[in-house]
Amino acid sequence: MFDSLEPMSTLRSGIDELATEDLAFASDDELEASLVEIERAMGALVAERARRVAEVERRGAFARDGLLSLTMWLVHRLRIAGSCAGRYVRWARALERMPLTRSALAAGDVTPSAAAVLVAAAESRPDEFPGVEETLVEAARSVPVRDLRRLVAYWRQAADAAGAEDEAEWRHGLRRLHVSPTLEGMVRVDGDLDPETGQTLITALRAVIDADVGSTGDLRTYAQRRADALGEICRRYLDSVDRPIVAGERPHLTVTVDLETLEGRTGRRCELDEAGVITPEAARRLACDASVARIVTAGRSEPLDAGRRTPVVSPALRRALVIRDGGCRFPGCGRPPGWCDAHHVVHWADGGRTALSNLVLLCRPHHRAVHRLFGVRMVSGRPEFLRPDGSALEDRGPP
Ligand SMILES: [Zn+2]
Ligand SMILES: [Zn+2]
Repeated sequence: MFDSLEPMSTLRSGIDELATEDLAFASDDELEASLVEIERAMGALVAERARRVAEVERRGAFARDGLLSLTMWLVHRLRIAGSCAGRYVRWARALERMPLTRSALAAGDVTPSAAAVLVAAAESRPDEFPGVEETLVEAARSVPVRDLRRLVAYWRQAADAAGAEDEAEWRHGLRRLHVSPTLEGMVRVDGDLDPETGQTLITALRAVIDADVGSTGDLRTYAQRRADALGEICRRYLDSVDRPIVAGERPHLTVTVDLETLEGRTGRRCELDEAGVITPEAARRLACDASVARIVTAGRSEPLDAGRRTPVVSPALRRALVIRDGGCRFPGCGRPPGWCDAHHVVHWADGGRTALSNLVLLCRPHHRAVHRLFGVRMVSGRPEFLRPDGSALEDRGPP
């Protein structure tokens, strides 16, 4: 006896009823409990879908519609993406041989996320999986998915130590990193790192983020902090004196900018080698401190100041600046000198002197802020910061 329409219409009317509930009247506990129930029901539906996909495959019903594979048939009939259909088929095939997983999923005891870990485990070791299914399903009922993934990884290693080594070796070959300028004027970073390199990156990023005591009112998101930390790590490497010399010079950030742009007039060129065009203000900021090599052109392309790579701020002058300022001088900040640029209060392109009396230490975010919005002027040898409206910010002096 088969009548799927009846239970389906009951299911539909149940869902319709849920949709009419006014959630404003639900207590926190009721809201939470209903959400848990919905998640359990999703698991049951996933199991039921897989059972039906497996039945379609057994019958070869897709061939009746002239389609060459079950995946194509699902794409066509369910109007889903090929990758999604491929996953449905994999699950259907795997769950057929995973009776305990399937019933735990159907009962809502194992979430679809946990089931996905088990399906991947069964696919990787089809012969050994039945022997451990009961243990893994039991674990999937109680531990978070992250721990389940770890448990399965250990099981796979133990099940086939040599195979695990081979697999790790194969996986190592998949490491990749793409760094490419985008049309929006950003640089996209995307890749997969092997575990050691990945962990090294995570540790280094965390070390930079943790060391950045931050300043009051730091509004950056964690993702933005991570991006800034990566820049900081790379910048320190480029600044290090003992790094390898390539083609007779230490590769460094180069800004190509014409004098008109630096002087705040309308210029023609301001760009970075690979990342492309930047704004005139960014060029002025990058040329402001001298940890950046710059090529200044006069007019179209005649180099005026080509390859002037000696720092504008000599190491001795920088040491004096560090002693005077101690760190970022922006009120309330105080990031240590290693995070700072030497900002010219009057830009050298506008005739400002590269002397202690015209320099102030600013961390990278505040250097940006000062070039974009805030002002700074020297008042009897001390920097005074100005809000965009021209009013003075209180300066508590070096911390
Ligand atoms: Zn500056
Ligand atoms: Zn600062």
